[in-house]
Amino acid sequence: MLAKGHRGVMGRFIPSTQDFQFIGGSLALDFVNTVGNRLGESCDYFSTPRDVVRWAGMPSCLPHLGIVRIRRRDMAGILRRREYLYQTFLPFAERTKRNGLRMVARLNHDISQLWSKKTLRHKDGRIQWAFEGSDAEQLAHAIVSDAADLLSSGRCELIRQCQDSSCGWLYIDRSRKKNRRWCSMRDCGNRAKARRFYAQHHGEGAA
Ligand SMILES: [Zn+2]
Repeated sequence: MLAKGHRGVMGRFIPSTQDFQFIGGSLALDFVNTVGNRLGESCDYFSTPRDVVRWAGMPSCLPHLGIVRIRRRDMAGILRRREYLYQTFLPFAERTKRNGLRMVARLNHDISQLWSKKTLRHKDGRIQWAFEGSDAEQLAHAIVSDAADLLSSGRCELIRQCQDSSCGWLYIDRSRKKNRRWCSMRDCGNRAKARRFYAQHHGEGAA
């Protein structure tokens, strides 16, 4: 079982963000969110290549790539990319100083590697894009392209981090009032509600 939870203030087991979800509003953020409870007892939903294959094939992800082949030796690169993207997006969510040069350098390195694999082919009487690389590289290309689009658009200023103390998931706040607090009401939003309820009825400080 991939999904884990943690004990709430009541000592009851309360599930945390479950497995793969696509609440980020961007492929790159959903990729970064494949770690549950990032700020607490974290749970990596990408434990094996099979997890990555399953994630990529989900209807909200990249089903048009078909069943991607991810090898064990691809995993280190996938996890490294996920971490540097998290570090790249985090300053937007925290509204802290950004090391723009560093951000751009890492992304540009990936872009130059991955975009060089794209080529035009003439097939069946028409010209179309093709990708000449491994499935892991094609997956990385889609994620890095999305990250570059996000960072070079005004949307990056709307990146937020879930306010749950352990969740750590990132999302684009598209709420009308720009006051979305949780990755998902079903998970962290509900946990916060349960904590408030408990505090009100047991006289303990609200979390
Ligand atoms: Zn959350």
